[in-house]
Amino acid sequence: MPNVRAGRLSLFIAITAVACGDGPTAPDPEPTYLLPFPVGDSALLIQGNHGSFTHFGPSAYGFDFRMTIGRVVTAMRAGQVVAVEERYLDGNRTPGQENLVFLRHDDGTFARYYHLTVNGALVSLGQRVAAGDTIGLSGDTGYSTTPHLHVDVTRDCVAWGCQTVWIRFQNAGADTLVAGRVYRAQ
Ligand SMILES: [Zn+2]
Repeated sequence: MPNVRAGRLSLFIAITAVACGDGPTAPDPEPTYLLPFPVGDSALLIQGNHGSFTHFGPSAYGFDFRMTIGRVVTAMRAGQVVAVEERYLDGNRTPGQENLVFLRHDDGTFARYYHLTVNGALVSLGQRVAAGDTIGLSGDTGYSTTPHLHVDVTRDCVAWGCQTVWIRFQNAGADTLVAGRVYRAQ
């Protein structure tokens, strides 16, 4: 009965399309994220979610990518720039003195990009950026033991200590990133 099945499937698709079109509050698809560096670039993940070094408690969800100082950092998702700091010197090894860019996404979550190099924020407060846009240059500022980029996403608040959330990268070739592996932005 292949024709009947095909007919039912078509009807289902048609009903679903109408329902989505009529509904003013159709649910958003799960947001996905791009790796925070340009397509074609690769980086070693030195700490992922639930990493024992610094990714625990409210900070459990986050990613540390090894990056030499000065590598291009790109937006994981479209958003508006809500915080910029770029005055600190690389190698300062001082918690709280991180150069950073924070973006606010349209659903109210925030993406945080930490440890950028001095003068390494390439966006301005209030600026809107698209996913994949260049936003900064990697560095080694603040609470950092080696040049790298820390990224994470928070909900409801953006300061250090706010609860981070699990995110999925759409161009890493894997849903769950594992420390010790190299990921290439596809
Ligand atoms: Zn980290």
